[in-house]
Amino acid sequence: MSVQNIIERLLSGDRRALARMVTLIENDVPQVQRYLAELHPHTGRAQIIGVTGAPGAGKSTLVTRLVREFRKQGRRVGVVAIDPSSPFSGGAILGDRIRMMELAGDPDVFIRSMASRGSLGGLAASTRDVVHALDAAGYDPIIIETVGTGQAEVEVMRTAQSVLVVVAPGMGDDIQAIKAGILEIADIFVVSKADKPGADQTVAELAMLLSLDSQRRKHAWRIPILRTSALKDQGLVELVNAVQEHQLHLAESGQLGERMQRQGRSELTMLIQQAVARALQTVVSEEEWQAFSEAIARRERDPYSIAQELEARIGLKP
Ligand code: GDP
Repeated sequence: MSVQNIIERLLSGDRRALARMVTLIENDVPQVQRYLAELHPHTGRAQIIGVTGAPGAGKSTLVTRLVREFRKQGRRVGVVAIDPSSPFSGGAILGDRIRMMELAGDPDVFIRSMASRGSLGGLAASTRDVVHALDAAGYDPIIIETVGTGQAEVEVMRTAQSVLVVVAPGMGDDIQAIKAGILEIADIFVVSKADKPGADQTVAELAMLLSLDSQRRKHAWRIPILRTSALKDQGLVELVNAVQEHQLHLAESGQLGERMQRQGRSELTMLIQQAVARALQTVVSEEEWQAFSEAIARRERDPYSIAQELEARIGLKP
């Protein structure tokens, strides 16, 4: 498949071209930025939904049900599942996600698992690029699923417009963890496995947490706490409606535009940082890095003047 071919076929919805593009993004091949540049005018249309929560919270089950709901509406759905802690390749993770496999035969559902290879920022950047590719290929909504509620997840979730934080009954410790960072990005709380005892208490704990969070109110969006049960097939329609309401809220309040601008800015910054990192890799050999580090450790040289020297070498300074 030639470049132009991939782009054209991807834009017309060809799954194979899309899969190819996603692989190119994951492998971070140098030409990929040129392809993404061509796709860019065709992006920015999809609703992007983030789903995060602790391992075992019921995320993949929920995502599977969500996909089914959206399919009932005739929408083509993309899923990007990420496990930053997993040492396995994307394929291995997908193999584990048996529940999602039931969706695999549907030509209007595209699921891709991604493992984190590089840095924190690297994962967020490649996730965003994969989302762009799915968006250009006409998938809408696109669901991003991440495991855990740490810094990496928060970073990845910034790509999403509506973030669902999933908490299962009896996961009190996770509610503590939520306080740490995820609250800032949560738009909807989902108490999963609501058929289990303890769901009421989890809802109450989350409500308490939200009542303490005054900063949210200025955005005029009240974070709803919804209950779902995959076992009893409950709460899914309400959840889909809540996502729609949140999207409407974002559009009407002007926040959607603001988020997109913020993303554009962070994308640009990230690209430039990556370019600098790459430039450094080409002008400084591993032996030289080693020599510099040793000299700094022995106090023979200082990092400031070395940095200036390297900045000059990559053309940032005269
Ligand atoms: P993930 O690790 O967050 O993706 O969680 P999973 O979706 O793999 O679910 C973890 C476990 O919870 C599995 O054994 C599921 O069968 C179970 N589970 C998921 N949803 C429900 C539910 O609504 N009710 C009950 N009782 N169990 C559920």
